[in-house]
Amino acid sequence: MDDGTFLVVAFVAGLLFGLINAYIASAKGRGSGEGFLLGAFLGPFGLLIEVLLPTITRRADASSATAQNVAAHPTGTVAFCTECGSALGPDVRFCGACGQPVPSP
Ligand SMILES: [Zn+2]
Repeated sequence: MDDGTFLVVAFVAGLLFGLINAYIASAKGRGSGEGFLLGAFLGPFGLLIEVLLPTITRRADASSATAQNVAAHPTGTVAFCTECGSALGPDVRFCGACGQPVPSP
């Protein structure tokens, strides 16, 4: 194998690993460009790193946080302002009528 052939093989292998990594990265919620560079420069090691990296689940985190808020303030619980007696919603921090801070339960 001469130098020219080696360069072509290395280039094609880098491109191949880059494309595979780009696919995995986008499937895991990261940028495909980042995955491509990782695979193109590190080859099989970049592929391994990409597989081991955790999947980004921003939407799942946000929904679980919302679920926790709902659990902390069950729907249907009606509180009343300690200052003016106005009815308060379940997720209200301040009284809408007088602006009194609502103590968290
Ligand atoms: Zn009030």
